[in-house]
Amino acid sequence: MTYRITVVATGQELLYGTTVDTNSAFISSSFFGTNFSVISHISVGDEFNDLRRTIADAIDKSDVVITTGGLGPTDDDNTVRAMCDIFGLKETVHGDSLMKMRDRFERIGRKPYPTDEKMVSVPDGAFVLENTAGISPGFVIRSGEKCIASMPGVPREMRNMFESYLLPYLKENYVFSEGMRLSYRVTGIAESEINKRINDMNLHESISWGVSAKSSFSELTFIFSDVCSSAKSETDSMVKEKFGNVLLGDGFASPEDELVFMLKSEGLTISTAESCTGGLIGKRLTDISGVSDVYMGSVIAYSNAIKSRLLNVNEKTITEKGAVSHEVAEMMAEGLQRVFDTDISVSTTGIAGPGGGSDEKPVGTVYASIRFKNNTETKRLQFSGSRSHIRESTATAVFNILRDKISSNSADK
Ligand code: ATP
Repeated sequence: MTYRITVVATGQELLYGTTVDTNSAFISSSFFGTNFSVISHISVGDEFNDLRRTIADAIDKSDVVITTGGLGPTDDDNTVRAMCDIFGLKETVHGDSLMKMRDRFERIGRKPYPTDEKMVSVPDGAFVLENTAGISPGFVIRSGEKCIASMPGVPREMRNMFESYLLPYLKENYVFSEGMRLSYRVTGIAESEINKRINDMNLHESISWGVSAKSSFSELTFIFSDVCSSAKSETDSMVKEKFGNVLLGDGFASPEDELVFMLKSEGLTISTAESCTGGLIGKRLTDISGVSDVYMGSVIAYSNAIKSRLLNVNEKTITEKGAVSHEVAEMMAEGLQRVFDTDISVSTTGIAGPGGGSDEKPVGTVYASIRFKNNTETKRLQFSGSRSHIRESTATAVFNILRDKISSNSADK
């Protein structure tokens, strides 16, 4: 059974273009690959007649309608009134939400306003969805087999409500199948390479797939339209075989997140000497809570003088080979090892652009050196794009090289 969903995002600000509708994207991506199929997104202003007509039309055309916004106290918040009008229901104040709102206002010393009750009103008889991040409750109305749900517009309130109450409600009251999707996070390879590896898998034509690029990985999703129990596990095995180490482990939000976990598991410490990345590797590592167990610190060795003074990089080598060179990267990692005495020392030096490139070393040329277990290995990497893209790509590549190194080191043990 497939249910057709229309998402109706309400609010004049969406039509003015001053607010981008992220709610519909969130709702759609939450249902992606399930048997709840989003057939359209509609944005509509606050005017009562427009709103009522749009919601009524959506109900005609779909099995499930989800609206966001218009549940607040002001005159332009018309969702409850529109729903009551469509279904011939009365507006009623929701007792629990009213008490919660009064408690909250009392705590912050806010005086009551006559319009406050509007914020906690719902259509009489509707199933109420609690708002754990705000005041206005959401609700669900059932009409025959159809389901019409309304949630607040504030994204944080809507997301909490969706995950904690609406999705569980749908799972309990409808046939909900999540078994039609497989998702992976792929890092360190280009989309064209992902495409090639998937073509090599010769997937059955009923399996479709898509890639969406995020900042440090690509989300790879397979959709199984004809659910055959073995197709999913066969595809899963093939993906693991074809992609191996470029897949992030389950539950890791980024390559650095998984790297920190690996460093902790192996009891390894790390430090960084950053030139072209200017502290970005350290920043991304220290975005992860609890990293102080493994990350000791960084030397941002941007100038040649600092490379020499703090990291003992030979000045003659800088002059002869250039600051962006295999030799300088290696000396930076070795100098760093003497300063921090960590198990792993990492250095980067490169040309982030837009100026500074040459035929031999174009913009995007980066040397990354890793000293690990008394052995220093230096790689030349080549990126393209903007300065910030080159710097981010360098940091991601370093994390991926380290993930590889640590996993082969632990496999060798
Ligand atoms: P409140 O009770 O806070 O008034 P509400 O349900 O009435 O909530 P709106 O007034 O429609 O919601 O929207 C509140 C704010 O949430 C808007 O100012 C806007 O910043 C944001 N918002 C509303 N709809 C969306 C949307 N579809 N995507 C992203 N942000 C949104």
